[in-house]
Parts: sequence; structure tokens; C-alpha cells
Amino acid sequence: MAAWGQRLAGVRGVLLDISGVLFDGAEGSGVPIAGSVEAVARLKRSRLKVRFCTNESQKSLGDLVRLLQQLGFDISEGEVTAPAPATCLILKERGLRPYLLIHDGIRSEFDQIDTSNPNCVVIADAGESFSYQNMNKAFQVLMELENPVLISLGKGRYYKETSGLMLDVGAYVKALEYACGIEAEVVGKPSPEYFKSALQEMGLEAHQAVMIGDDIVGDVGGAQQCGMRALQVRTGKFRPSDEHHPEVKADGLLPMSGDREGVQGTAGADPCFGQRMCHPRAVGSVSGCCC
Ligand SMILES: [Mg+2]
Repeated sequence: MAAWGQRLAGVRGVLLDISGVLFDGAEGSGVPIAGSVEAVARLKRSRLKVRFCTNESQKSLGDLVRLLQQLGFDISEGEVTAPAPATCLILKERGLRPYLLIHDGIRSEFDQIDTSNPNCVVIADAGESFSYQNMNKAFQVLMELENPVLISLGKGRYYKETSGLMLDVGAYVKALEYACGIEAEVVGKPSPEYFKSALQEMGLEAHQAVMIGDDIVGDVGGAQQCGMRALQVRTGKFRPSDEHHPEVKADGLLPMSGDREGVQGTAGADPCFGQRMCHPRAVGSVSGCCC
């Protein structure tokens, strides 16, 4: 495999996933992944543009950013592409009134949205609110519509918290798609529109950016479909079987913090992007910089 310098030539910006790359969530809180706070700080000191690109849908954008700031990250709301604000724009533009199957932690994002007499369903990672009653209500709303509209905030299969792997919204979306014979519209990764809006915020073309994430399909596959390069971290939801995924192959695999062998084995041992750029060597995943 080519050395880092070759693989990342021309990169001018980095998109960072949050959960599983910067931190592992826990009930109402979270724990930074080793090296990630320093890595973000280094990237921001470099010439690279940095944007955070998340599918987080249990916390409002404000709560998520406050938590990350408390954990020590240099991050502000304006630097984050998140699915709830994007969904609200779509609802307003299309005059949609959703039945909200969402987590209470994100409900405030929809304060300005008319939810009377629903003509669509919005589903997100609702956690404990994924009851039979609530799923069936969503099913009933969709089945009563002539043209059912199901909007999903992300479509992940699972994610990782400190307590272990957690079932994500994608499994519930699939259930509704199957029962209603429809296909959901995804707002979030891996939707190309979502990556494009993040790139637009950065003022970069797809070939000038690299995505770093822990989800081989949602982060790596989605970004590559959009024309970006993509690296997978060995933290968060990463599983060794991801390296043999039948459809998606990461442009690089970032080792865990302190995993020198991983650097040698997977990164060609080039400690630099080749152009005095910060090198995401150990992010918790993006740390280790030659600048
Ligand atoms: Mg993630």
C-alpha cells in the first residue's frame, strides 16, 4: 500500500466523525478516546481545515458541543454538521409535519416544527423510546398517508458506548421500511448530500478532503461514494472484520494510540502526510504530528 504522503497528497481538510473517534458516549456523558483531544488541537493548529461530521441524534447540537468542550475539545457549534438542524430545514422547505420518533434529548431541536396532524415520520436514535407502542404509531402514520415519507437521522447499524455496542436507528428504520414497503430518506451519513454540505461549509472539493471515522459503511463508504478519501480508526465500533468488508475498503487504517506496530503495518511508517501536515496517527485517533 502506498505511503501516507502519496495516499493523502493534496488533502486540505479533514472531516472528523465524533462518536467512536473523539469519544465514547456513556449515559449522559462520555469519555475521550486516548489522544483525541490533543489530536484535534494539533489539526486545528495545522494548515488543514477541520470540520466535525456526526450522525448524533440523542443529544441536541448544543448539548453535544457543551459535552465535548467539557471533555477538553476545541469545538464550537458552527464547526459541526449534524442531522437535526438539516432535517428541520427539509421539513420547513417541504411543509412536512412530522410524527417524531426521537430521543427526548433532541426534542428541543424541533421546537419550531409543526407536529399537528402528521404527514410524515421522522425517526432518530430514540433509545428507550423505541417501544412497540411508538414504533406502531409511526407505522400507522405512514400507512395512512398516500405518499408515505419516512425521514431518518442517519441509518447506522450500531455504535459503541462505554457499556458496549448499542443498536442504532438503522435497525428500526429497516423494520418500518419492510412493514410499509417504502424506503427512508436519510439525512446524515452516508448520504452524499450530507457530505457535500459539510464540504461546502469547508469550501473544499471532495478530492481535497479526507474523512476519518469508525464506521466502515457510514463514514468510509459514504465519504468515498462522494469522491473523498476515507480513513478508518481502530476505536469506537471498529471491528477486525471491517478490514474484509465485501464492498468498502478504507484508504488507510489508523492504529490505536501507542500501536506502533499498526503504524508500521498499515500506514507504511510515513509519520507525515508528506507536506508538513498533521498526521492522524493515533487518534484516539488523530494525534502525532510532525509539524
Ligand atoms: Mg462514529
